[in-house]
Amino acid sequence: MQKNIVLVEGAGFCFGVKRAIDIAFDVARNYKERVFTLGPIIHNPHVVEKLKELGVYPLEELSKEKSIKTLIIRAHGIPKEKFNEIKQKDMEIIDATCPFVKRAQSLAEKLATEGYQVVIIGDREHPEVQGIFSYAGPDAIVINSSEIPILNKKIGIIQQTTQPLTKVKEIMNELINSRNEFEEIRIFNTLCNFTSKRLQATEKVARNVDLMIVVGGKNSANTTQLARLCKNMGVKTYHIENAQEINKEWIECTTTIGITAGASTPQWIIDEVIDKIKEFIN
Ligand code: SF4
Repeated sequence: MQKNIVLVEGAGFCFGVKRAIDIAFDVARNYKERVFTLGPIIHNPHVVEKLKELGVYPLEELSKEKSIKTLIIRAHGIPKEKFNEIKQKDMEIIDATCPFVKRAQSLAEKLATEGYQVVIIGDREHPEVQGIFSYAGPDAIVINSSEIPILNKKIGIIQQTTQPLTKVKEIMNELINSRNEFEEIRIFNTLCNFTSKRLQATEKVARNVDLMIVVGGKNSANTTQLARLCKNMGVKTYHIENAQEINKEWIECTTTIGITAGASTPQWIIDEVIDKIKEFIN
């Protein structure tokens, strides 16, 4: 039986993650001493391991390592207080925060300074949101569902860069129609094109295949989002981190296999997945 493999356009590293990874590998090549990243540079254990071999180590807490000379800040960014704390220390900071995340941080700060209560649509546990929240002033609030609390009369809305547009629209609709009596609502679009384009491209492919393989870290929010999208469309979907997880039986009873990957999945892992599928087909 003829089998086809369709790779989603734009699968894998987004601009911000690629930039952060390039910075980390560049530092690894040019620095002799050990270098640290605050948290794993991306949600992909394979890349983190590769960097460790080259002398770039993830650090959960600054206090756990005493001899830090150089610290890389990952694409998600970090809270303002932490950034200021690090600046006081005698170490070099290499800021690899994605420019789109930086923009969301600056807009949050600007809105707070101008007297708006900042409403962030996103996941409050996500490091990017925690970073943006720290710039958003004392009244800031994170909303992640259609349950809208009582808000100030003047609010400014921004979004976690990776939130799905449909969900953002739903929440904004509920917010506008809530029992709040607003005088002014200011909205900035801080959604990232890379994420929405990848979601759209994945949806398009998932519509025409009988199996979707979603490649990326199990702890990667945007990869999990891709897997959820495919599953919700009723397509048989497997979320894997690497080619070794592929089971031959998945491939045997399918004719068209779609592959997509999260923003933190390197091209070499995608290539290995394609090769493994081809191996099972032949
Ligand atoms: S998903 Fe978008 S905002 Fe997030 S790191 Fe990538 S490019 Fe930047």
